[in-house]
This record gives sequence, structure tokens and C-alpha cells, in this order.
Amino acid sequence: MKTKDKINSILIANRGEIAIRIARTAQKMGIQAVGIRTQKEPNAHYLGQMDVILDFPEREKNQVPEFLDIESLVLLAKRNQVDAIHPGYGYLSENADFAIRCTEEGIVFIGPSPRIIQNMGDKVVAKQIAGKAGVPMLGSSKGSVVTLDDATVIASQIGYPIIIKASAGGGGRGMRIVRKESDLKQMYLSAVSEATLAFNNPSVFIEKYLENPHHIEIQIVGDNFGNVIHLGERECSIQRKHQKLLEEAPSPALDEELRKKITGAAVALAKEAGYMSLGTVEFLLDKQKNFYFMEMNTRVQVEHPVTEMITGLDLIELQIRVARGEKLSLKQSDIKLKGWAIECRINAEDPQSGFSPCLGVVKALRIPKGNGIRIDSGVVAGSEVTPHFDSMISKLIVHADTREEVIEKTLKALSEFQIKGVKTTIPFDKAVLRNEVFRLGDFDTSFIEKDMDSLVYREEKEELLAAFFAAHHYAEQHQTPSLVDNDEDAWTIRNRLNFK
Ligand code: ADP
Repeated sequence: MKTKDKINSILIANRGEIAIRIARTAQKMGIQAVGIRTQKEPNAHYLGQMDVILDFPEREKNQVPEFLDIESLVLLAKRNQVDAIHPGYGYLSENADFAIRCTEEGIVFIGPSPRIIQNMGDKVVAKQIAGKAGVPMLGSSKGSVVTLDDATVIASQIGYPIIIKASAGGGGRGMRIVRKESDLKQMYLSAVSEATLAFNNPSVFIEKYLENPHHIEIQIVGDNFGNVIHLGERECSIQRKHQKLLEEAPSPALDEELRKKITGAAVALAKEAGYMSLGTVEFLLDKQKNFYFMEMNTRVQVEHPVTEMITGLDLIELQIRVARGEKLSLKQSDIKLKGWAIECRINAEDPQSGFSPCLGVVKALRIPKGNGIRIDSGVVAGSEVTPHFDSMISKLIVHADTREEVIEKTLKALSEFQIKGVKTTIPFDKAVLRNEVFRLGDFDTSFIEKDMDSLVYREEKEELLAAFFAAHHYAEQHQTPSLVDNDEDAWTIRNRLNFK
């Protein structure tokens, strides 16, 4: 793995909020942030944060998207004598070939070595390494399952329900839950075709499906000298279609004893893998508090800010320092987790029409401010939300002393957060934070699906009710005819709206 004593400039091979996030830390460290302008969004907000902007070369139709084009990105960095490349998340962040090409050209890839990316990026190989480290895992096929006959035998050995997963999977794609043998054929074939389409790799494997678990992940960081520490856990069970919507740290599902065990397992796994750089070890936790290794992500995560809030550390800085060959200056005993943090992903989507993306121009934007409130945003007033990119346009991250306090503070911040012009998931985030089950910390990965209707319509009903009672109250005060004759009728209407 190539390292450099001095990194003077970093090419950010990404866009949106994460490009701004990386540029901020680079600049704080005295490093030039080099951004890439694409023809798809020549006036994007993230470009305003860069010290240098490079234009992506003209493209022909049908070429791979800019931030997936390995050779053009490497060439851009080389021509402009950039020292390092930061891939952010998504795109090429977990692509070993990209890391190899950077290294070949003398450019530092800010992430782990290609070998580690290769091993941990393949869920089957990652499981083999986890097995060597003695980390608990769910029953699964030994490797990829290449025929339907094999799938049938393995599924019955493991016992239904099972889940079929793409070995190269990510973003919740290529997964199929199978509850009975008669469904296996159709699910197996569709998982293989989705894996081929999405990841250009047909390999799938089979794992025991755990009903209603928690998704708990451990942030770790390692250096080139064999040191690995953890930075606590993140609770990521609030998901829709296996994709995270709202994350928090710490997790209400862990006590100190369990935290020690699960973080210990994550560090043992990272050491077994010879891990260096930032990384996340993902686990499922069942009702009996048994945890099982699921996969490892070898990049910075979307939800890294909740860890930054409770540790006071800059994770991108740690990542850059390790990449330029520095030894970790922190010991495990230096890591103190303080308070509670929540991140809400703000997507330009309409929850009331099945979370379909909402395109258009952000006409106005008012963001909440205050102590312990952080906005990582890829848009400003005037920005255009286009179909070319992911629908996540912003993240709200809030920190307070306790879970109760941070829930209230996040709700208040969400009420102040105004985005006009495109529909967003803000009302949905609010409904989650108001939900009793969420507030009790008693939820699991099935939470959103179970309560979808009330979560989607809660905010709308609440607004309707507020308007109704304001009108009723006004009529009473001014002795004018009300919409209803008395309070009893008002309560009947409230019940009709079925407001819980
Ligand atoms: P991806 O890499 O596509 O994000 P993951 O392996 O991280 O996929 O899984 C995403 C989500 O899918 C998990 O957070 C969990 O909700 C669900 N999931 C994955 N594997 C299992 C399993 N064996 N049992 C139950 N749920 C699972």
C-alpha cells in the first residue's frame, strides 16, 4: 500500500454533501481540496467549497457515469499532479481496481489496501475471515451457490426462512427472503439476475434469515502498524427496503456488557483482516441479544457524523492521516463516548407516493441552527434535484446529553428545516421521532414496514387537526358559528381521523 509523508492535494471523486464534507477536513489540515465539475451539474453547490475545480473531459453517450470512470479519474489526478484521491461513499469507494490503479500511478488512495477491499467487499470471503477471528455468524452456505439444486439442499440444511444475498451486494439490492421451499426457485433466479444487473457479478449466497433483528454497526479505525480501535456503535434499524433512513449512536439495544462484546468482536475481525483505514463492521442482533456478523464496509459511511458527534473526532481526518502513513495517535482508552446523536437522512422523495423521487428546483431553503445541530447538505436555494443522482440531498445531525433530549431537539430542528420546491422525507422523519415504539427504543428492522401507514400520514393528520382546532377555538372566542357545535363533536372528528 502506497503512502506519502506529505499530501498537498486531494481529488474528491464524488459529489454532493460528502464532497463538501471531505473538502472541509482537507482544508482544515492545510490540504488543497480538488473538486470535479461534471456536465450533469456544472453549477452544483459542492463546487463552491473546492480550492480547485477540474472539468471532467467531454463524454460520449453510453459511457459509464463520471464518478465510476476509473481511467478518466486517474488521468485527471495525474495530469493535475494531485497527490491523493478520496472516493467518498458509493461510486468507486469499494472498488479494488480503482485502488490498484491509483497506487500504480503513485496516487494515494484514501481507503484500505486493494487486497482488503477485495476480501471484505466479497461477503463470502469476509465471512471466512470472520470465522477465523471467532466472530459469531448466522448459518450460511460455505461459498457462493451456483445452481438451483445446490440452493435447495443448502436452504433445507439451514432451515427456512433464509435470505439469498448477492456476494458483491450493497444498498439492499440483490436480496430475497424465502420463507418456504416452493418459493425458492423464483427467488433464487431473480436474485441471480438482479446481482448480475446491479453488480455485474451473478454470485449469490444463502444465509439464515433472522426475524426482526436490530442492525448494529461498529465504527473501527486501523493503521499500517497493526493498531485497531473502535469508536462505538451505531443503531441503524430504522430502514425501508433494507436501506437506512435514520441512525443514532449509541444504540438503545446495548448495555455496557454487550457493547464490550460486540465492539471486541469487530476489533478482532479487523485485526484478522489486517485492516487499516476507516471501516464499519455490521452485525444483526436478535431478541435474545445474540449478535451475528453480517458484512464489513471499507469506506466512510453516510451515517459517520453520529459517531463524530459522540466521540468529538473527525473521522475523515483519521482516514487521511492513516492513508499518509501515520500511526494512530489514539488508544482505545482515549475514546470516550459522550451523549446521544441522531442523523435524519433528508431525501427528495414523496413518502405519500411510495417514496418516489421528487425532481425539481429547491426554491427556498431554511436550515436549523444551534449548539449540537449540524447540517451536511448538498443543496442550497436554487439547486436542481435531477434524476442523475441519489435522492439524498441533505442530512440533519443532532447531539444532546440523553436520548430523550436528542429526540426532542431533532424534532424541533426538523420543524425549522424548510425546503420548498421539492417534497422531502422531513415529515416522515418527524413521524418516526414522535412514534411511541421508537421513543421507547423498542424497535427493530421491521419497524417502518409494520407502521408504514401511520408514519406516512401522521404528519398530514396532525396538520389537519391543528388547523381544525385553531378554527374551532377561534369560533368559540369570537362567538361565531363553529365548524362543529361542541367539544364532543370536535373529539368525534379527532377520532374519525383515527389519530393515534
Ligand atoms: P447491503 O450490503 O445491500 O446493504 P446488508 O448485508 O448490509 O446489505 O443488509 C442490509 C439489511 O438487510 C440489514 O440491515 C438487515 O435489515 C437486512 N438483512 C440482511 N441479512 C439479514 C439476515 N440474515 N436476516 C435478517 N435481515 C437481514
